[in-house]
Amino acid sequence: MNVLGKKTVEDINVSGKTCLVRCDFNVPVKDGVITDDKRIKGALKTIKYLIDNHAKVILCSHMGRPKGEFNMKYSLVPVRKRIEELLGQPVIMAKDVVGEDAKSKASTLKSGEVMLLENLRFHKEEENNDPEFAKQLASMAEIYVNDAFGTAHRAHASTAGVAEYLPAVCGYLIQKEIEIMGTALENPRRPFVAILGGAKVSDKIGVIENLIDKVDTLIIGGGMAYTFLKAKGYEIGNSLCEDDKLDLAKSLMIKAEEKGINFLLPVDTVVGDEFKDDCNFKTVDSNKIEKGWMGLDIGEKSQAKYDAAIKNAGTVIWNGPMGVFEMPEFAKGTKAVAKSVAESGAISIIGGGDSAAAVEQLGFADKMTHISTGGGASLEFLEGLELPGISALNNK
Ligand code: AMP
Repeated sequence: MNVLGKKTVEDINVSGKTCLVRCDFNVPVKDGVITDDKRIKGALKTIKYLIDNHAKVILCSHMGRPKGEFNMKYSLVPVRKRIEELLGQPVIMAKDVVGEDAKSKASTLKSGEVMLLENLRFHKEEENNDPEFAKQLASMAEIYVNDAFGTAHRAHASTAGVAEYLPAVCGYLIQKEIEIMGTALENPRRPFVAILGGAKVSDKIGVIENLIDKVDTLIIGGGMAYTFLKAKGYEIGNSLCEDDKLDLAKSLMIKAEEKGINFLLPVDTVVGDEFKDDCNFKTVDSNKIEKGWMGLDIGEKSQAKYDAAIKNAGTVIWNGPMGVFEMPEFAKGTKAVAKSVAESGAISIIGGGDSAAAVEQLGFADKMTHISTGGGASLEFLEGLELPGISALNNK
């Protein structure tokens, strides 16, 4: 998949055309009020471009899991209100997705006007990528714009199916994701450092296998580190471990050595006697973890070692926390790495999910080059997998 060669909104004449824009408005709503509007703000650049270029704009998105049925709890009405406030212009709300109301409102839409369809997942056909449903969606528009990176790894009617029936381009959000991450994978500024953490090795195998051919340094932290430490023959006590992945961990370490990659595991570990914030804890060298103790964070020596590698980096990709960062006592390793990345001067790319949340919580978001808007999608991208929502777009 040549991700860097996909057409964008700027590669197609949108003037006077009806554009169906797939956004990610899957925002948290409490008592009818949006508690975090980051995703809506993220879509504004593309929407404004379309308005300024005289397109007729139809926005669509999913929200939550309404399981294929209409359910007011998952209505996009609160999203409509927020878009209106942010755009400073009215947004026409359709009462349905591909029903009479949506179709009649779409047919009378004027250039520069914006309308919003109801939650795509009110129809089970959306997630089933039903061709008839995709056709119905397409029938309201002349151009399809995908700007929902968070769902680009799913082949749904509004992310992939609809592109069969319309010229298909990406919006600015997806363009930024694929340009920054695609360039890092294909032509990184070196040294290229990947930092992988989180609970399980099994979730990150694909990423490690893809990155091991590309990076100069691979830093491992979090719960997944202990499977590697055990594979090296260390006692790891009650630390997280996937015993069925020990052979794989060994072979990955051998591969890293053969390729001359700097493969860094925690040299010291904060161990606790229970999986609790107020447990007894101490820092020990990673080859001195005793039975009855479990690794909950990387220690200070590891932080310093990782910092030295990150400081010199040209590009850093980070996915997954270094410890149980939800417990303040064991968030120090993740904080230290966030600080190192923020201060490194490298092109810094934060995979979505926990690491993005950690970076935001710790106040380093502004210092990063790019925080991906899709957890699952960015992982699949880093694995080198084809994302259906991106491969469906037209090539330049
Ligand atoms: P993931 O979803 O795979 O990125 O993993 C994130 C989760 O891994 C977070 O909830 C962390 O609390 C957890 N985690 C990180 N380090 C450890 C550890 N040493 N032991 C147990 N869980 C961990």
